[in-house]
Amino acid sequence: MTAKDKIRLTLRGLRLIREMAPGYLPFTAIRSALEALLPFISIDMSGRIITAAAQRADWRELAALALLTAALNFLTTLLLNLMTRIANTRGSNFWQMQDLPLDRKIQTMDYEYVEDSAVHAKRDTIKMKESSFGRGLPRLYWWYFSTGIKGFFQVVFSLALVIGAFTAEPVPTGSAWDFVFSPWCSVLLLLLFALSLVWDVSIQAASAKRENEMLEGFNGVNRVAQYYAGLLMDYRLGKDLKLYRMKDSVLGEFTSFSETINRLFARWQKGEARYRSLSFANSAVMSGLMYVYVGLKALFGAFPVGSIVTCVGSLTQFRSGFSGLLNVASDVFINAEALRELFDFLDLPDKKYQGTLPVEKRAFCDGGDNDYEIEFRDVSFRYPGADAWALRHVSLRLRVGERMAVVGRNGSGKTTFIKLLCRLYDPTEGQILLNGVDIRKYQYDEYLSLFSVVFQDFSLFSFPLGQNVASSVEVEKERAAACLEKAGFGQRLQTLPKGLDTCLYKDFEEDGVEISGGEAQKIALARALYKDAPFLILDEPTAALDPIAEYEVYSHFNEIVEDKTAVYISHRLSSCRFCGDIAVFDGGEIVQRGSHETLLAQEGGVYRALWHAQAQYYAKETAAPG
Ligand code: ADP
Repeated sequence: MTAKDKIRLTLRGLRLIREMAPGYLPFTAIRSALEALLPFISIDMSGRIITAAAQRADWRELAALALLTAALNFLTTLLLNLMTRIANTRGSNFWQMQDLPLDRKIQTMDYEYVEDSAVHAKRDTIKMKESSFGRGLPRLYWWYFSTGIKGFFQVVFSLALVIGAFTAEPVPTGSAWDFVFSPWCSVLLLLLFALSLVWDVSIQAASAKRENEMLEGFNGVNRVAQYYAGLLMDYRLGKDLKLYRMKDSVLGEFTSFSETINRLFARWQKGEARYRSLSFANSAVMSGLMYVYVGLKALFGAFPVGSIVTCVGSLTQFRSGFSGLLNVASDVFINAEALRELFDFLDLPDKKYQGTLPVEKRAFCDGGDNDYEIEFRDVSFRYPGADAWALRHVSLRLRVGERMAVVGRNGSGKTTFIKLLCRLYDPTEGQILLNGVDIRKYQYDEYLSLFSVVFQDFSLFSFPLGQNVASSVEVEKERAAACLEKAGFGQRLQTLPKGLDTCLYKDFEEDGVEISGGEAQKIALARALYKDAPFLILDEPTAALDPIAEYEVYSHFNEIVEDKTAVYISHRLSSCRFCGDIAVFDGGEIVQRGSHETLLAQEGGVYRALWHAQAQYYAKETAAPG
């Protein structure tokens, strides 16, 4: 990364902070300038007061100076407090929202990234560097900007006050002390000053480099430790942890990872203490030299005694401001790595969002004719980074209103087929068409709005039941209740204390309800129905239902699905036989298609083999009691 790139990243980071916390940066700039100014009021005014006192000035003059000092201090402090309050208020938005760009990206990124563990690792690294070490945006927010502005004003104010010490008229003594007044002495001192600053910066750079190295080792361990901490926090896992006696091993692993992290920290802190001592020694030596220089000049009468205080105070401020500026400069370069990781993540291309065509509004709910047709045209698909084909040469058409069952062994490509249909992935070869147009050309969100899907691993949330069904805080209560009824949750709904307002799970509400797997599946089905999309896709929709509930779903399937196109995956062939169109997947290909009777009649076919395997199992079960 070049220096230009690093500066560009820093400016981009500041722009992002400006968007997230409008007004924070200008008010912080004013606050930092005032912070820099405040000590100079005392430094300058105390110099003047001491000089006036040494020259035995009138008491009124001394009192006026003292009053002026107090008034200036008071006004500046008042203004400083006001600016700090405004800056903090404006900035609090940043603290609340600092993860928002990252979280928003995670929600909108192409699905292939969501399933990519390398992408998860990147996100965790960014979050860990931000939360544990303030790297990336937080450092820009709370350190660079204020320290940089403050440092700049410290340097400007101190130069304005200290310049007199270097240009003071020589007072010849005829001794070796005259060297103090020679320009060479000023040059030597400035040189020493510069050297000390360079040394200070190199100490900072070495410390930051060590921090970077520590972070590399820390990140991997911390991710696993966080995972174990999450396991221990999740009350839903309590049963498994208890019954499989995993509590001790999980606690043990967590403790062991935490100890490793502590060791890494302790080692790092030891090094940090060394760097801090070196930096402090450097600063002490330089300040000492400055005191001697200014003291000698004053001793020989080059300027009034009060100026000693002014000069020394200013030089100390100059050193702190200049070293702050240099530290910011060196740290900008080191922090740029964390910013690069953040922006690389935010810039992951959203390929799915390149389509611009609006989807024709043909759904009944839009007043259209619902005439949609999906076609898979010789589609093959390989997961990113995988060698094997998950789907191979799949061709089929689906007209609206049709029902299709998808069956096949585990790993035969059924879920992948659904993922492609819903454009979570794009085909590696071939095309998927909606009404004759490649689905990649459509606006992504509009295309997604055509599908209601219940995935096998669906999620419900710790929100009220109604909000879970409506997927929104706005709930049409009658519609939600009707969908729950259709999905077979009607009776259970009657028993819930607050009906649709009952919270699922106990994360937030004492009287939240814990629901069974089957009930959860019914709610997920109700959610899909509530969306009222033209295509309804159900991946093992009855896997968690008891036989009666399953029977009810299938016997009312036509009522549930109404005029929508339905695709459902099931490994229970008995539940598919009501469907006129069954597609049999095997090894990623559609190897058979037809009605239950047609497929069963095909000797040597996969369907027949699967059917007999299941039928035999049921036959044995039925025979057993007799
Ligand atoms: P099914 O739903 O029929 O059980 P899938 O469509 O889930 O099968 O899987 C088809 C093949 O793709 C399997 O070999 C599976 O291991 C592989 N696969 C599924 N998901 C992924 C993924 N995210 N990355 C890589 N391979 C995957």
